[in-house]
Parts: sequence; C-alpha cells; structure tokens
Amino acid sequence: MNYRHLGKAGIKLSELSLGAWVTYGGQVGEEIAEKCMLAAYEAGVNFFDNAEAYASGRAEVVMGNVIKRLGWRREDLVISTKVFWGGKGTNDRGLSHKHIIEGVNNSLRRLQMDYVDLLFCHRPDPNTPIEETVRAMDILVRQGKAFYWGTSEWSAADILRADGIARQYNLTPPSMEQPQYNMFHRQVFEMEYQPIYKELGYGTTIWSPLASGLLSGKYANGIPEGSRAALPGYEWLLEETLTPERIEKARQLTPIAADLGCTLAQMSLAWCLKNPNVSTVITGASRPEQVHENMKALDVVDKLTPAIMAKIEEVLGNKPESLLD
Ligand code: NDP
Repeated sequence: MNYRHLGKAGIKLSELSLGAWVTYGGQVGEEIAEKCMLAAYEAGVNFFDNAEAYASGRAEVVMGNVIKRLGWRREDLVISTKVFWGGKGTNDRGLSHKHIIEGVNNSLRRLQMDYVDLLFCHRPDPNTPIEETVRAMDILVRQGKAFYWGTSEWSAADILRADGIARQYNLTPPSMEQPQYNMFHRQVFEMEYQPIYKELGYGTTIWSPLASGLLSGKYANGIPEGSRAALPGYEWLLEETLTPERIEKARQLTPIAADLGCTLAQMSLAWCLKNPNVSTVITGASRPEQVHENMKALDVVDKLTPAIMAKIEEVLGNKPESLLD
C-alpha cells in the first residue's frame, strides 16, 4: 500500500480505502463486514469511511463493533463520518449548529470512539447560513472530536465561501472534499474544483470509483443476482448510473484491461489513482473477494501509460475540456 497526504494536510491516507455505504448494516451483516474490513486492513488500508446516514446509523455501529473486536490500534486508523441526514425529526437533518453537534455526538457513540479523524458535511444545506456551519465545525475541531473537517458534493464557490468565512473569523477552515469521481463522472472533479486544489491545497476522498459496480463489467449481461442494482430501493441506479450507453462503454473497456493482465475493476480504480488530486479512492465491497481483487489495482497504476490512457479516453469520449461544458 502507498499512503498519500490529504492535500496539504499532514495526515496520510492509504491510496485505497473502504467505505460502508449500502453494504454495512444493510446489504450484508456484521460477519461479512468484518471479513471485508480485515481484508482491507491486511492489504494496508488505514482509512474507513462512514456516515450517520448509512443504514440509519447501523453502519457506524457495525464498523465500531468490528474495530473493537479486532483490537485495532486507534492511532493506526483514519476514521471518517459525515453529518447531514440524521433522522426524521425536524432538527435531525441539515447543517444547523444543533444538528451538527448532536449528530456527531451520536455518531461517536455508535462508533464507540472519542473522535473521528475526518468529518464531512454530507451535502450543502441551502437553508443554513454557511457561517453557522463553519462555527459548529470549528467547535468540534477545538473539542478534539474531529481533526479535519470538509465537505461532500459542495460547489467550489460554496467551499471558497466557507474558507473565506473561517479565515475572516479565525475559525478552522475546511480542508477536504468528498466528491464522486470515476470514468463516467468527471466534470466537477477535473474542472470546477481546480481552484480548491490550487488555492486551498484541498485533499479529496473520492466515492463510487466503480460507478456502483458498473466499472467491474458485471452488468454487461443484465443484473446479476445479489448485486447492488438488484437490491430493493436501488432501482434509481438503473436510470442514473447503469445506463445502456455506459454499460456498452464498460464492455468496450474490458479488453483494454485484459491486455494489461488485470480486471476492469482494477483498471478503473487505478485510473482514478492516476489523478494527483485524488488523495484516496474509497472502494466499496459486499464480499471479501471483491476487496482482494480491488486492492490489486495498486499494481496496475504504473501500467496506465499515456498510450493506454489515450485508448481509455477514446472509449470514454467524455474528457472535460472547459468549465462551460
Ligand atoms: P463503488 O462504485 O466502487 O461500488 C462498490 C460496489 O460495487 C460494491 O459494494 C459491490 O456491489 C460492487 N463491486 C465492488 N468491487 C467489485 C468487483 N471487484 N467486482 C464486482 N463488483 C464489485 O463504490 P461505492 O458506490 O460503494 O462508494 C464507495 C464508498 O464511497 C462508500 O462506501 C461510501 O463510504 C462513499 N460514498 C460517499 C458518498 C457521499 O455522498 N459522500 C456517496 C456514495 C459513496 P455489489 O456486490 O452489491 O454489486
């Protein structure tokens, strides 16, 4: 495993990491979660991603239980959570001062931890002044409950605004973003966010690197039983992510991976790692075999020469050229 700085911050994250969305506390039980987390840890993963929203908090319970049972040293781990969707009550969602403090305290209780290393605002909240959110995040950092705070799926303009407010009032500025980034979802990461890498030294923890499994090639012949797209409640994936056009492109990418002696999943993860603005690629897995396969993506990064990258680009045909796209 290699470890990258989170942007200009001192903390280092494993290039590949593991997240809990869909899977832990939902699609799979604690036993499978433990096997996946152990497989990742043994491959050198130090960063495990979570959120108060995942399986309505059960994902944090599962991850906390597994870490405790396996007796991992807290210092060896980078743990994140995200605050925004905490429940159904009037004040259980969004980025108000009240929900941020209460939500994070609830997450820490579920994780059985005194602090998280990384804390994200899971989405922007147009109904709360950014200054209120920045102040609440600053309090948590000063209390030692979170070491770094950042955003997920915020616009570059809002991130720059939050940074400006923090500096104006001598509060802790955000320092990282958790955006979606994969071969099919590039515009924001590659274009809009340029100022936050260059001007703010932001790190990124990118999500859905396989576009929910599509970039493993598994959907080439329909929806396999037990896959994410077959889960009740995930029908929206078929409209938004697993479109026929993308499935066809995944099919065309498969021989390029085969020529490199790797799977499409490995090539797709390595492709994300080629981007120097990626601090860590958060992988997801519903079974330990997937973790074993995905961790080998590290061996593929150097095989992605400019000629191979150009071949991939030719199939994708979606290289962002301008902020106006
Ligand atoms: P991916 O796009 O990599 O999808 C992971 C899923 O793809 C797995 O659960 C599995 O699903 C399938 N898969 C993984 N590896 C393979 C393989 N080698 N072969 C075949 N199928 C495979 O990532 P996620 O969408 O899960 O996102 C990763 C993490 O990012 C999340 O766990 C979460 O921590 C974070 N995230 C953050 C978001 C945010 O808003 N900040 C939003 C979404 C995710 P299956 O076997 O069920 O088909």
